[in-house]
Amino acid sequence: MTKRTALVSGAGIAGATVAYWLARDGWAITLVERAGDLVSSGNPVDVRGPALPVAERMGILPELRAMATHAKAMRVLDPEGRSLARIPMPSRDGEVEVLRGDLAGALWSATEDDAELLLDDTITTLRQDPDGVDVTFEHAAPRRFDVVIGADGLHSAVRRIAFGREQEFSRHLGLYVATVQLGGPPAEPEEVMLLNVPGRLLALHPARGVAGAAFIFRHPEITGLDRRDTARQKQVVAEAYRGMAWRVPEILARLEESDDLYFDAVSQVSMDTWTRGRVVLVGDAASCVSLFGDGSTLAMAGAHNLATALSEGSADLATAFRRYESSHRKLTTPKHRHVHRTAALLVPASRLALATRNRVARHLLSRARPGPHR
Ligand SMILES: Cc1cc2nc3c(=O)[nH]c(=O)nc-3n(C[C@H](O)[C@H](O)[C@H](O)COP(=O)(O)OP(=O)(O)OC[C@H]3O[C@@H](n4cnc5c(N)ncnc54)[C@H](O)[C@@H]3O)c2cc1C
Repeated sequence: MTKRTALVSGAGIAGATVAYWLARDGWAITLVERAGDLVSSGNPVDVRGPALPVAERMGILPELRAMATHAKAMRVLDPEGRSLARIPMPSRDGEVEVLRGDLAGALWSATEDDAELLLDDTITTLRQDPDGVDVTFEHAAPRRFDVVIGADGLHSAVRRIAFGREQEFSRHLGLYVATVQLGGPPAEPEEVMLLNVPGRLLALHPARGVAGAAFIFRHPEITGLDRRDTARQKQVVAEAYRGMAWRVPEILARLEESDDLYFDAVSQVSMDTWTRGRVVLVGDAASCVSLFGDGSTLAMAGAHNLATALSEGSADLATAFRRYESSHRKLTTPKHRHVHRTAALLVPASRLALATRNRVARHLLSRARPGPHR
């Protein structure tokens, strides 16, 4: 029997996961990845809830636990860097926090023997008919597949080509995020430090012994900002954080020198449908909530859902895609609803909102654990 074929665009969290499960079910899988290698940015992400059984059945959970970050608590600081509250981060129900690059690497190691990988390439056109999809690439020769899966993240090329312009589906949430590795051991090896002033947050994460900084700040949408223009991006961050105290000047200097800056608008992707004929979206490409709602967990769970629906033998494609959408939307819809609340907690916009957030944090902590903050 000839194998069914799928092209997966994006070898990230969702892409490697869907490739693994489809290959196990006998599909011939090709992944196309725009990057030249699979090393990627190191922001910490969580694998929890519905992603845990997926990781367990892929056999990567022990590896993820061994690579877990060392964060045990969040410390909320005042604008001068003095401690206001220490919030423990207990691991619930076996959840694990790892660096995104480590998660992508573990997922890919589980998949690599069963899938073809085209690196440093991207889809340029998709033309579908009732029996398949003809695909052209920037570099590789044209090919035909039964199904094309867009797992290529927030700025998905598959979504743009098959569904429409990014602006139709992606909404700027009024914030930007920039992350940078600090290149040395963290001052606090088990604590995430959160320094807020109204509209701005600097988070220092201990990661796995090499500190990382995340700047998350409110800023009107910058039209025409080139995603490759790192000089301009550094300038935007430096302007937003100018004048702040504590370690901010030193960390801005590190940002200025860095050649590994991650910078993006914090955006939400909302779509009425994730499928068009033989083309389907998964992960951030379908339903990004950026850093505000279990993006990597949803990417893994959605990828597994999609592969399960596609592998249920008797189902035609349209039925399989309907099953995938209806089951996975139950997970994504509540996350989308809470995006603004999470943003308001993490980056309070005004002095009053910040003071209220800090007061509530201290009050909840004092009720949970009497005694002074450590
Ligand atoms: C700063 C920050 C902090 C975060 N914190 C958390 C957190 O604490 N917890 C959490 O669960 N989530 C977090 N997230 C979100 C999480 O990283 C994403 O939701 C998750 O990575 C989505 O997985 P994905 O596979 O859909 O997309 P991605 O991981 O973005 O993977 C997409 C892949 O597609 C590739 N690609 C892109 N364009 C193309 C193209 N044209 N052709 C081929 N390949 C392409 C990319 O190179 C990449 O490999 C955070 C995100 C950020 C930015």
